Amino acid sequence: MPDEMIIRFWGVRGSHPVPGPRTVRVGGNTACVEIQAGPHTVILDAGTGIINLGADLMRRARAQGGHSITATILFSHMHNDHTQGFPFFDPAYAGASTLHILGPKVFESDLEETLAHAMLPPMFPIALDDLPSLKVLRNVNETEVVLIGPGQSDVKVLNVFHNEIDPSPELVRIRTYHSYAHPKSGVNIYSISWHGKTVVYATDTEGYVQSDQKLVKFAKDADLLIHDAQYRPEDYTNPAKPKQGWGHSTPEMAIAVAQAANAGRLVLFHHEPTYDDTTIAEIEANAQKLFPNVHAAFEGMEVKI
Ligand SMILES: [Zn+2]
Ligand SMILES: [Zn+2]
Repeated sequence: MPDEMIIRFWGVRGSHPVPGPRTVRVGGNTACVEIQAGPHTVILDAGTGIINLGADLMRRARAQGGHSITATILFSHMHNDHTQGFPFFDPAYAGASTLHILGPKVFESDLEETLAHAMLPPMFPIALDDLPSLKVLRNVNETEVVLIGPGQSDVKVLNVFHNEIDPSPELVRIRTYHSYAHPKSGVNIYSISWHGKTVVYATDTEGYVQSDQKLVKFAKDADLLIHDAQYRPEDYTNPAKPKQGWGHSTPEMAIAVAQAANAGRLVLFHHEPTYDDTTIAEIEANAQKLFPNVHAAFEGMEVKI
């Protein structure tokens, strides 16, 4: 269908990559999700999953006779498992590529500064500034709406109180909720809408008693909710090594948000790296007893809404 949104999962792991025989089915790369909304490419986070995505985007461009891409990359926050793939993102090295890069201001540092830090010599031989692609970087916060389109390079960041927001359904519309349920400076949760359909990306967030009501409101009636579900309840509350306050949820917390928000589908995301394929299959089976349309994310998973 021409107005179908396609969501592809390229990295579904939290904390650090875990390649190897125990994670073959679910995958071992860290957070990266691709959204195709007609001609528009939106990328959520740049964990190691973005490396394979970058190669694939360039393959797709070459198949159409091109040598570059235009995309919007949204960073939820700047922890390593969400940025470490960026220096290896092929399209950033293609001079004709245009990358609109948006994310939170972290304490007093702008996005440009924190991303530059992630690939600064001596940690990495090439500086952000030296990447040949055109990069447009800026912070984005709750008072702003990002509009993409009608051209792919046409990305506007507008203030909801001061600007008139064009309601056309063919524009990709991105809103932000900044949650403080992740150490130390919180996380941007994004809602991406196009042609009346909405995906909410809520990674690296921890549930509250009776759910994060701001998130429930933000995700109301979303067609797809991608929610952190890193820890099984027994690990979250394990008295020997409790994970409370680490900024991650249990599948039950994710389900509670999905139910309260009336989300159409739920994808459990940001899997604990020590969980193997069997454990994640069990988590998924247990979750499916509580919510009708829930799946555990795996690399290569594609959802259409
Ligand atoms: Zn993370
Ligand atoms: Zn994090």
